[in-house]
Amino acid sequence: MTMLLDIRGLSRDFGGVKAVSEVDFHMNTGEILALIGPNGAGKSTVLNMISGVIPPSSGEISFENQPMLQVAGHAYASLGITRTFQNLQTFDDMTVVENVMVGMHSKGKSSLFACGIKLPTARKEEKEMREQALKWLDLVGLPDISSRLAGSLPYGKLRLMEIARAMVSGPKLLLLDEPAAGLNHTETAEMSRLFKEIRKSGTAILLVEHDMDMIMQVADRIVVLDQGKKIAEGTPQEIQENKSVIAAYLGEEEEELVKG
Ligand code: ADP
Ligand code: MG
Repeated sequence: MTMLLDIRGLSRDFGGVKAVSEVDFHMNTGEILALIGPNGAGKSTVLNMISGVIPPSSGEISFENQPMLQVAGHAYASLGITRTFQNLQTFDDMTVVENVMVGMHSKGKSSLFACGIKLPTARKEEKEMREQALKWLDLVGLPDISSRLAGSLPYGKLRLMEIARAMVSGPKLLLLDEPAAGLNHTETAEMSRLFKEIRKSGTAILLVEHDMDMIMQVADRIVVLDQGKKIAEGTPQEIQENKSVIAAYLGEEEEELVKG
């Protein structure tokens, strides 16, 4: 097992609020690590720092033994880190395949949207990019709808389309912020299957999710945050039985289930 991501003393303040406080964890190549915790625990802020959306207030993030703090935001996909966001980020008046091809933008030598003149090299590159995008649409379970406008798709399919977009550049680490939120049981099961396929292909996944069934099914390890701090780390089994996790989070989830 090789270390892929190493996070030490990671902290982020917003004004007086300590959103993330002295968090340490690591990820190995090709593993699925779930990052869980109540709303406001700091999960999205951690993903935002790993993907360069915001800088940490202090602490270190290294990826493949390289410190990441000086890397510019647009360089992340070419380093091998891609992500989806908690809210949908889709282009409604572009087709599904074009939405996925956006994820290859940083890879193409001739820019995808500067192809107006269509030089032969650009045309060949675009064809390869399209084929790769179609391959991923197939893998996420969305064959046959590549030429439809994204705006005409239901929410669950747009969530899958976003995962295809994040995978099309062949990342080493995929960051997902609540990918199953708003999905029904069947869609969630389908997504769990997809995560296992992605792991098999060699991509590691850092999964922020509330659906405990999904987490128990797919996660190799779990890190639990509460009020910005790491309160537990372990296997799904260990976390399920951890008293402080139950008090801070799982108990609350169960109450919500009971309330319906
Ligand atoms: P989670 O994803 O676990 O629900 P977040 O990382 O979104 O939690 O938020 C953690 C804390 O940081 C919350 O108190 C939230 O209000 C605060 N926070 C997050 N982003 C910002 C921001 N851009 N400006 C100010 N406060 C923020
Ligand atoms: Mg969040």
